[in-house]
Amino acid sequence: MTDSPIRIAVIGAGPAGFYTAGHLLKDEAGGHGADGHSINFEVDMLERLPTPWGLVRSGVAPDHPKIKSVTRIYEKTAAHPRFRFFGNVVFGEHVSREELLEHYHAIVYATGTPVDRPLGIPGEELPGSHAATEFVGFYNGHPDHTDLEVDLRSTERAVVIGNGNVAIDVARMLVLAPAELAPTDTADHALEVLGESRVSEVVIVGRRGPAQAAFTNPELLELGELSDADVIVDATELDRALAVHDAGAEENITSRRNVEILRSYAERTPAGRAKRIVLRFLLSPTALLPGDDGHLAAVELAHNELIADGEGQLRAQASGEHETIPAGLVFRAIGYRGIPLPGVPFDGRRGVIPNDGGRVLDGPGDDEPSEIGQRRGEYAVGWIKRGPSGVIGTNKKDAQETVDAIFADASAGGNDLNVPDSPDGAAIELLLRERQPELVTYSGWEAIDRHERALGEPSGRPRVKLTRIEEMLRVAADG
Ligand code: NAP
Repeated sequence: MTDSPIRIAVIGAGPAGFYTAGHLLKDEAGGHGADGHSINFEVDMLERLPTPWGLVRSGVAPDHPKIKSVTRIYEKTAAHPRFRFFGNVVFGEHVSREELLEHYHAIVYATGTPVDRPLGIPGEELPGSHAATEFVGFYNGHPDHTDLEVDLRSTERAVVIGNGNVAIDVARMLVLAPAELAPTDTADHALEVLGESRVSEVVIVGRRGPAQAAFTNPELLELGELSDADVIVDATELDRALAVHDAGAEENITSRRNVEILRSYAERTPAGRAKRIVLRFLLSPTALLPGDDGHLAAVELAHNELIADGEGQLRAQASGEHETIPAGLVFRAIGYRGIPLPGVPFDGRRGVIPNDGGRVLDGPGDDEPSEIGQRRGEYAVGWIKRGPSGVIGTNKKDAQETVDAIFADASAGGNDLNVPDSPDGAAIELLLRERQPELVTYSGWEAIDRHERALGEPSGRPRVKLTRIEEMLRVAADG
């Protein structure tokens, strides 16, 4: 049997893409198929930005540098002789799915879920109302969000909608002391805006109760340890929100611990710090209200009760009461969504690529659906496969499932992988360079990385991020 390598294109250089590449290039992966022929993978990673690491670079909060150190594992994968990085290449723009299938046995979509889920309420588009995704990108120096206009000078109160870790990250970033921000890799433009902030109160609003919150324990605990902000929980509201018994939450260790932490916050006497984070529950925003100047001025919220839905879940249902919280800023942190990729099936309801354990399934619009309902040689991994849940490490296991599927399909004699006309590494590189003369290779990224670290060194910061594509390309070319 042939020993020629199986060529895989991974689209997206975030954690899911890198874990996929890592698993494919592990020695054990390059083993033998069921029929005894040896399997060797070659991985090319295509990424729309000149920089790798996805949400590790542009999502993880800047004051969490330890989480970012996971890139050392990805760097080892990138150093593998059968790995190549093609940055600044947009799937569907510089190269199509069909063209990639001429050159690769399989494509793995690892494009994540880059946009926010909308609330679907009046006033959502008012100035002062922001998607958390944009603000997170802004403070992390994502080039798409460098020019975001976020006015932290005209209001003292911000409301963050959602009870997940993104809501916590946003709230924390809004109240961190300058001394806490100074040693981080927060983008310079964001340091300037945050440095001039007049926001002194951040209200985090959950539509259900504390026992149903999606926070993880360390993140919730961190709110109680901030040098410039008190954390405020109203004991009466907490009791009301906990009055409905939730058997699921009782069994869930994270949820039980969250409730303990919140009770301890409710018992605290505020230390009189300059800023406050207030955690509120059982409230759903119903409208964002403008002031006379047309800018966001207040959030109208409906009070909720928890109602069992008969499927073991507690749902929020409006009780008929309302309240209005004056606020000049709202950050909507109610989850992310995937966006469709040209030529790739998409489940618009869930915002993911339909798949079975990573194998992409035919879409309703497919002209010639396959007999097995599966797109031959196409796979998904990470958030675009399963939706935006879990921490970075969750993607390692998720990637293993997708790689197992690829390996199984390859082992069956290659029958279920795509059969490319031109499985030739040089040919695809030539095509990509033709289409995108400013393609950034891994050594180009290494030049950007060195440059950013050198900029950070004098002030003891891990790096000063380049936030414009043109700057990145210049540095990549010079390096
Ligand atoms: P998430 O954990 O899914 O939380 C989304 C929150 O939005 C939930 O509280 C949800 O409430 C609420 N929500 C949804 N629709 C809503 C609506 N229409 N109105 C009001 N509230 C609504 O999502 P995330 O915060 O975006 O985080 C995504 C993933 O990244 C999570 O797995 C998270 O743990 C992870 N992450 C981890 C870290 C870290 O480890 N430090 C940092 C950031 C993110 P319901 O429960 O009622 O639906």
